[in-house]
Amino acid sequence: MKVPFIDIKRYEDGFLDAVSAKFAAMLADAQFMGGAEVQRLEARLGELLDVKSVVTCANGTDALQLALRALNVGPDDTVLVPDVTFWATFEAVVNVGAMPATLDVELSDGGISVAALRRAIHDLKPKAAIIAHLYGWGSGRLAEIRTICRDEGVLLIEDGAQCLGAAYQGQPIYKGALISTASFYPAKVLGAAGDGGAIMTDDLELASRTRRLANHGRTAHYGYADVGWNSRLDSLQAAFLNLSLDHLDARLASRRRAAAYYQDVLPSLGIRIMMPPDAYVENGYCNVCMFDDPQKKTAVESALRHAEIGFGNIYPGVISDQQGARSYMCTHVGGVRVASFALRC
Ligand SMILES: *Cc1c(COP(=O)(O)O)cnc(C)c1O
Repeated sequence: MKVPFIDIKRYEDGFLDAVSAKFAAMLADAQFMGGAEVQRLEARLGELLDVKSVVTCANGTDALQLALRALNVGPDDTVLVPDVTFWATFEAVVNVGAMPATLDVELSDGGISVAALRRAIHDLKPKAAIIAHLYGWGSGRLAEIRTICRDEGVLLIEDGAQCLGAAYQGQPIYKGALISTASFYPAKVLGAAGDGGAIMTDDLELASRTRRLANHGRTAHYGYADVGWNSRLDSLQAAFLNLSLDHLDARLASRRRAAAYYQDVLPSLGIRIMMPPDAYVENGYCNVCMFDDPQKKTAVESALRHAEIGFGNIYPGVISDQQGARSYMCTHVGGVRVASFALRC
Protein backbone atom coordinates (compact mmCIF):
# COMPACT_ATOMS: atom_id res chain seq x y z
CA MET A 1 0.00 0.00 0.00
CA LYS A 2 1.31 3.43 -0.99
CA VAL A 3 0.98 6.03 1.75
CA PRO A 4 1.24 9.55 0.33
CA PHE A 5 2.77 12.30 2.46
CA ILE A 6 -0.58 14.02 2.34
CA ASP A 7 -3.74 12.94 0.58
CA ILE A 8 -6.13 15.85 0.27
CA LYS A 9 -8.35 13.86 -2.10
CA ARG A 10 -9.54 11.66 0.76
CA TYR A 11 -12.99 13.22 0.87
CA GLU A 12 -15.80 11.73 2.94
CA ASP A 13 -18.65 10.02 1.12
CA GLY A 14 -21.05 12.64 -0.17
CA PHE A 15 -18.65 15.54 0.43
CA LEU A 16 -17.97 16.32 -3.24
CA ASP A 17 -21.68 16.08 -4.08
CA ALA A 18 -22.46 18.57 -1.34
CA VAL A 19 -19.72 20.90 -2.63
CA SER A 20 -20.99 20.60 -6.22
CA ALA A 21 -24.56 21.38 -5.21
CA LYS A 22 -23.48 24.32 -3.06
CA PHE A 23 -21.17 25.75 -5.75
CA ALA A 24 -23.86 25.33 -8.44
CA ALA A 25 -26.34 27.31 -6.37
CA MET A 26 -23.83 30.03 -5.57
CA LEU A 27 -22.64 30.29 -9.19
CA ALA A 28 -26.22 30.57 -10.43
CA ASP A 29 -26.72 33.39 -7.95
CA ALA A 30 -23.26 34.98 -8.65
CA GLN A 31 -22.46 34.85 -4.93
CA PHE A 32 -18.75 35.54 -5.10
CA MET A 33 -17.83 38.17 -2.53
CA GLY A 34 -18.72 38.23 1.17
CA GLY A 35 -22.26 37.23 2.00
CA ALA A 36 -23.82 34.52 4.10
CA GLU A 37 -21.12 31.85 3.71
CA VAL A 38 -18.32 34.15 4.86
CA GLN A 39 -20.38 35.41 7.81
CA ARG A 40 -21.33 31.88 8.80
CA LEU A 41 -17.73 30.69 8.60
CA GLU A 42 -16.51 33.55 10.80
CA ALA A 43 -19.24 32.88 13.36
CA ARG A 44 -18.54 29.14 13.42
CA LEU A 45 -14.79 29.62 13.76
CA GLY A 46 -15.38 32.11 16.57
CA GLU A 47 -17.36 29.52 18.45
CA LEU A 48 -14.97 26.67 17.68
CA LEU A 49 -11.85 28.61 18.68
CA ASP A 50 -13.56 30.43 21.56
CA VAL A 51 -12.59 33.91 20.38
CA LYS A 52 -14.79 37.00 20.13
CA SER A 53 -13.88 37.96 16.59
CA VAL A 54 -12.74 36.18 13.44
CA VAL A 55 -11.79 38.12 10.31
CA THR A 56 -11.31 35.91 7.25
CA CYS A 57 -8.76 36.91 4.62
CA ALA A 58 -7.02 35.69 1.48
CA ASN A 59 -4.33 33.44 3.02
CA GLY A 60 -2.31 32.75 6.16
CA THR A 61 0.56 34.99 5.10
CA ASP A 62 -1.76 37.95 4.65
CA ALA A 63 -3.28 37.10 8.03
CA LEU A 64 0.13 37.70 9.65
CA GLN A 65 0.66 40.92 7.69
CA LEU A 66 -2.81 42.16 8.59
CA ALA A 67 -2.22 41.38 12.28
CA LEU A 68 1.09 43.28 12.21
CA ARG A 69 -0.45 46.24 10.41
CA ALA A 70 -3.49 46.29 12.71
CA LEU A 71 -1.09 46.48 15.68
CA ASN A 72 0.68 49.41 13.98
CA VAL A 73 3.91 47.49 13.52
CA GLY A 74 5.90 49.03 10.70
CA PRO A 75 9.14 50.75 9.70
CA ASP A 76 11.81 51.00 12.42
CA ASP A 77 10.09 48.38 14.57
CA THR A 78 11.90 45.21 15.57
CA VAL A 79 9.85 42.00 15.59
CA LEU A 80 11.05 38.73 17.13
CA VAL A 81 10.38 35.55 15.13
CA PRO A 82 11.32 31.90 15.70
CA ASP A 83 14.35 30.66 13.77
CA VAL A 84 12.44 27.50 12.85
CA THR A 85 9.08 28.10 11.20
CA PHE A 86 7.62 28.43 7.72
CA TRP A 87 9.22 31.30 5.79
CA ALA A 88 5.97 33.32 5.78
CA THR A 89 6.35 34.10 9.51
CA PHE A 90 9.60 35.93 8.72
CA GLU A 91 8.40 37.33 5.40
CA ALA A 92 5.33 39.01 6.92
CA VAL A 93 7.54 41.12 9.19
CA VAL A 94 9.68 42.30 6.26
CA ASN A 95 6.62 43.02 4.13
CA VAL A 96 5.22 45.49 6.67
CA GLY A 97 8.59 47.27 6.67
CA ALA A 98 9.70 46.05 10.10
CA MET A 99 12.93 44.30 11.05
CA PRO A 100 12.89 40.66 12.11
CA ALA A 101 15.25 39.18 14.69
CA THR A 102 15.29 35.40 14.93
CA LEU A 103 15.15 33.45 18.18
CA ASP A 104 16.38 29.96 19.04
CA VAL A 105 13.74 27.27 19.32
CA GLU A 106 13.58 24.40 21.79
CA LEU A 107 14.17 20.90 20.51
CA SER A 108 11.79 19.60 23.17
CA ASP A 109 8.63 21.07 21.63
CA GLY A 110 9.59 23.32 18.68
CA GLY A 111 8.57 26.49 20.54
CA ILE A 112 10.82 29.52 21.04
CA SER A 113 13.45 29.51 23.74
CA VAL A 114 12.13 31.55 26.67
CA ALA A 115 15.69 32.48 27.66
CA ALA A 116 16.31 33.85 24.15
CA LEU A 117 12.98 35.70 24.30
CA ARG A 118 13.92 37.38 27.59
CA ARG A 119 17.35 38.32 26.31
CA ALA A 120 15.98 39.66 23.02
CA ILE A 121 13.38 41.78 24.83
CA HIS A 122 16.11 43.25 27.02
CA ASP A 123 18.66 43.81 24.24
CA LEU A 124 16.50 44.73 21.27
CA LYS A 125 13.40 46.40 22.76
CA PRO A 126 11.13 44.80 20.12
CA LYS A 127 7.69 46.21 19.46
CA ALA A 128 6.23 42.80 18.70
CA ALA A 129 6.96 39.09 18.58
CA ILE A 130 5.50 36.32 16.47
CA ILE A 131 5.49 32.76 17.74
CA ALA A 132 4.45 29.84 15.56
CA HIS A 133 2.54 26.85 16.92
CA LEU A 134 4.08 24.18 14.73
CA TYR A 135 3.38 20.50 14.04
CA GLY A 136 -0.05 20.48 15.71
CA TRP A 137 0.65 21.93 19.15
CA GLY A 138 2.38 24.90 20.74
CA SER A 139 5.12 25.71 23.22
CA GLY A 140 4.91 23.96 26.57
CA ARG A 141 5.56 27.42 28.04
CA LEU A 142 2.87 29.27 26.08
CA ALA A 143 1.19 30.80 29.15
CA GLU A 144 4.56 32.09 30.35
CA ILE A 145 5.43 33.51 26.91
CA ARG A 146 2.08 35.33 26.79
CA THR A 147 2.66 36.73 30.30
CA ILE A 148 6.22 37.86 29.57
CA CYS A 149 5.14 39.67 26.41
CA ARG A 150 2.18 41.31 28.13
CA ASP A 151 4.27 42.43 31.11
CA GLU A 152 7.06 43.75 28.87
CA GLY A 153 4.71 45.54 26.48
CA VAL A 154 5.65 43.34 23.51
CA LEU A 155 2.72 42.75 21.16
CA LEU A 156 2.44 38.98 20.69
CA ILE A 157 1.09 37.53 17.47
CA GLU A 158 0.47 33.79 17.40
CA ASP A 159 0.91 32.15 14.01
CA GLY A 160 -1.68 29.39 14.21
CA ALA A 161 -1.44 28.18 10.62
CA GLN A 162 -0.77 24.60 11.75
CA CYS A 163 -2.63 24.29 15.05
CA LEU A 164 -6.34 24.40 14.26
CA GLY A 165 -8.05 21.79 16.42
CA ALA A 166 -5.26 21.72 19.02
CA ALA A 167 -6.22 22.28 22.66
CA TYR A 168 -4.03 23.90 25.31
CA GLN A 169 -4.92 23.55 29.00
CA GLY A 170 -8.29 22.18 27.94
CA GLN A 171 -9.16 25.15 25.70
CA PRO A 172 -8.66 25.88 22.00
CA ILE A 173 -5.05 27.08 21.68
CA TYR A 174 -6.21 30.34 20.03
CA LYS A 175 -8.11 31.34 23.21
CA GLY A 176 -6.25 33.88 25.30
CA ALA A 177 -4.00 35.14 22.49
CA LEU A 178 -3.82 38.89 21.90
CA ILE A 179 -4.14 38.14 18.20
CA SER A 180 -3.65 34.92 16.26
CA THR A 181 -3.84 33.71 12.69
CA ALA A 182 -4.91 30.66 10.71
CA SER A 183 -4.25 29.36 7.20
CA PHE A 184 -6.71 27.39 5.10
CA TYR A 185 -4.12 26.34 2.51
CA PRO A 186 -5.43 22.99 1.20
CA ALA A 187 -2.81 20.90 3.04
CA LYS A 188 -3.54 22.45 6.44
CA VAL A 189 -5.84 20.78 8.97
CA LEU A 190 -8.84 22.79 7.75
CA GLY A 191 -8.10 23.26 4.07
CA ALA A 192 -9.94 25.32 1.45
CA ALA A 193 -10.21 24.56 -2.28
CA GLY A 194 -7.48 27.15 -2.76
CA ASP A 195 -6.08 29.81 -0.45
CA GLY A 196 -7.68 31.28 2.65
CA GLY A 197 -6.78 32.61 6.08
CA ALA A 198 -8.16 34.24 9.21
CA ILE A 199 -7.23 36.52 12.09
CA MET A 200 -8.62 35.89 15.56
CA THR A 201 -8.80 38.31 18.50
CA ASP A 202 -10.95 39.16 21.51
CA ASP A 203 -10.22 42.85 20.99
CA LEU A 204 -13.09 44.18 18.89
CA GLU A 205 -11.29 47.42 18.05
CA LEU A 206 -8.30 45.45 16.76
CA ALA A 207 -10.65 43.19 14.79
CA SER A 208 -12.33 46.11 13.11
CA ARG A 209 -8.95 47.63 12.14
CA THR A 210 -7.94 44.25 10.72
CA ARG A 211 -11.15 43.93 8.74
CA ARG A 212 -10.73 47.43 7.34
CA LEU A 213 -7.13 46.78 6.26
CA ALA A 214 -8.18 43.56 4.50
CA ASN A 215 -10.63 45.59 2.44
CA HIS A 216 -8.51 48.55 1.21
CA GLY A 217 -8.81 50.48 4.46
CA ARG A 218 -12.38 51.08 3.45
CA THR A 219 -15.00 52.75 5.64
CA ALA A 220 -17.52 53.35 2.85
CA HIS A 221 -17.60 52.14 -0.74
CA TYR A 222 -15.50 55.10 -1.84
CA GLY A 223 -14.32 56.17 1.60
CA TYR A 224 -10.93 55.11 2.98
CA ALA A 225 -9.66 55.61 6.51
CA ASP A 226 -6.41 53.78 5.87
CA VAL A 227 -4.31 52.16 3.16
CA GLY A 228 -4.74 48.40 3.24
CA TRP A 229 -5.05 46.00 0.35
CA ASN A 230 -7.47 43.44 -1.02
CA SER A 231 -7.25 40.35 1.16
CA ARG A 232 -10.84 39.15 1.18
CA LEU A 233 -11.79 35.47 1.35
CA ASP A 234 -13.90 34.38 -1.64
CA SER A 235 -17.45 33.25 -0.87
CA LEU A 236 -16.88 29.93 -2.66
CA GLN A 237 -13.89 29.23 -0.42
CA ALA A 238 -15.98 30.07 2.63
CA ALA A 239 -18.68 27.65 1.46
CA PHE A 240 -16.10 24.89 0.92
CA LEU A 241 -14.70 25.55 4.40
CA ASN A 242 -18.18 25.48 5.96
CA LEU A 243 -18.81 22.07 4.42
CA SER A 244 -15.35 20.89 5.56
CA LEU A 245 -16.01 22.10 9.11
CA ASP A 246 -18.87 19.58 9.31
CA HIS A 247 -16.20 16.85 9.12
CA LEU A 248 -13.52 18.47 11.24
CA ASP A 249 -14.04 16.33 14.35
CA ALA A 250 -13.79 13.09 12.37
CA ARG A 251 -10.73 14.34 10.50
CA LEU A 252 -9.04 15.35 13.76
CA ALA A 253 -9.81 11.97 15.29
CA SER A 254 -8.30 10.21 12.29
CA ARG A 255 -5.16 12.39 12.37
CA ARG A 256 -4.74 11.83 16.10
CA ARG A 257 -5.02 8.07 15.59
CA ALA A 258 -2.22 8.21 13.01
CA ALA A 259 -0.08 10.39 15.30
CA ALA A 260 -0.65 7.99 18.23
CA TYR A 261 0.45 5.08 16.02
CA TYR A 262 3.72 6.83 15.16
CA GLN A 263 4.24 7.77 18.82
CA ASP A 264 3.82 4.14 19.74
CA VAL A 265 5.88 2.53 17.00
CA LEU A 266 8.76 4.91 16.22
CA PRO A 267 10.36 5.02 19.69
CA SER A 268 10.32 1.22 19.77
CA LEU A 269 12.46 1.36 16.61
CA GLY A 270 14.92 3.65 18.37
CA ILE A 271 13.70 6.80 16.63
CA ARG A 272 13.35 9.85 18.83
CA ILE A 273 10.22 11.91 18.21
CA MET A 274 9.09 15.32 19.33
CA MET A 275 6.06 14.96 21.60
CA PRO A 276 3.38 17.56 22.23
CA PRO A 277 3.90 18.99 25.75
CA ASP A 278 1.61 17.71 28.52
CA ALA A 279 -0.74 20.68 28.45
CA TYR A 280 -1.82 19.88 24.86
CA VAL A 281 -4.17 17.72 22.90
CA GLU A 282 -2.54 17.84 19.48
CA ASN A 283 -4.41 18.01 16.18
CA GLY A 284 -2.29 15.31 14.52
CA TYR A 285 -0.94 17.66 11.84
CA CYS A 286 2.56 16.28 11.88
CA ASN A 287 4.82 13.72 13.42
CA VAL A 288 8.35 14.93 13.93
CA CYS A 289 11.30 12.56 14.12
CA MET A 290 14.58 13.80 15.54
CA PHE A 291 17.95 12.62 14.31
CA ASP A 292 21.32 13.45 15.80
CA ASP A 293 22.97 11.02 13.41
CA PRO A 294 22.70 12.00 9.72
CA GLN A 295 23.38 8.40 8.66
CA LYS A 296 20.44 7.12 10.63
CA LYS A 297 18.26 9.82 9.09
CA THR A 298 19.33 8.77 5.59
CA ALA A 299 18.63 5.12 6.43
CA VAL A 300 15.14 5.88 7.70
CA GLU A 301 14.42 8.04 4.65
CA SER A 302 15.46 5.32 2.27
CA ALA A 303 13.41 2.70 4.16
CA LEU A 304 10.37 4.97 3.91
CA ARG A 305 11.00 5.55 0.20
CA HIS A 306 11.35 1.83 -0.35
CA ALA A 307 8.04 1.17 1.44
CA GLU A 308 6.43 4.01 -0.56
CA ILE A 309 5.58 5.95 2.58
CA GLY A 310 5.65 9.68 2.00
CA PHE A 311 7.55 12.08 4.24
CA GLY A 312 8.99 15.57 4.15
CA ASN A 313 11.84 17.36 5.84
CA ILE A 314 10.24 20.22 7.65
CA TYR A 315 12.07 22.34 8.28
CA PRO A 316 15.42 21.43 6.74
CA GLY A 317 17.22 24.49 8.06
CA VAL A 318 16.88 27.63 10.11
CA ILE A 319 15.47 30.89 8.77
CA SER A 320 18.56 32.90 9.70
CA ASP A 321 20.66 30.72 7.36
CA GLN A 322 18.47 31.45 4.35
CA GLN A 323 20.07 33.62 1.71
CA GLY A 324 16.91 35.71 1.48
CA ALA A 325 16.98 36.50 5.21
CA ARG A 326 20.39 38.11 5.41
CA SER A 327 19.71 41.59 4.15
CA TYR A 328 16.49 41.95 6.15
CA MET A 329 17.15 40.57 9.61
CA CYS A 330 18.77 42.56 12.36
CA THR A 331 20.21 39.71 14.41
CA HIS A 332 19.80 36.21 15.78
CA VAL A 333 19.33 35.74 19.51
CA GLY A 334 20.44 32.43 20.97
CA GLY A 335 23.30 30.01 20.83
CA VAL A 336 22.44 26.77 19.14
CA ARG A 337 21.25 27.18 15.61
CA VAL A 338 19.73 23.84 14.78
CA ALA A 339 19.64 22.84 11.15
CA SER A 340 17.92 19.86 9.64
CA PHE A 341 16.27 18.27 12.59
CA ALA A 342 12.78 17.39 11.53
CA LEU A 343 11.46 14.57 9.46
CA ARG A 344 7.75 14.52 8.99
CA CYS A 345 6.10 11.22 8.28
C1 LIG B 1 1.15 27.61 6.00
C2 LIG B 1 1.80 28.52 6.96
C3 LIG B 1 1.76 29.92 6.79
C4 LIG B 1 1.25 30.59 5.56
O1 LIG B 1 -0.05 30.30 5.22
P1 LIG B 1 -0.55 30.50 3.69
O2 LIG B 1 -2.03 30.34 3.80
O3 LIG B 1 0.11 29.43 2.90
O4 LIG B 1 -0.15 31.86 3.26
C5 LIG B 1 2.32 30.71 7.78
N1 LIG B 1 2.90 30.18 8.86
C6 LIG B 1 2.98 28.85 9.05
C7 LIG B 1 3.62 28.34 10.30
C8 LIG B 1 2.45 27.97 8.09
O5 LIG B 1 2.54 26.66 8.31
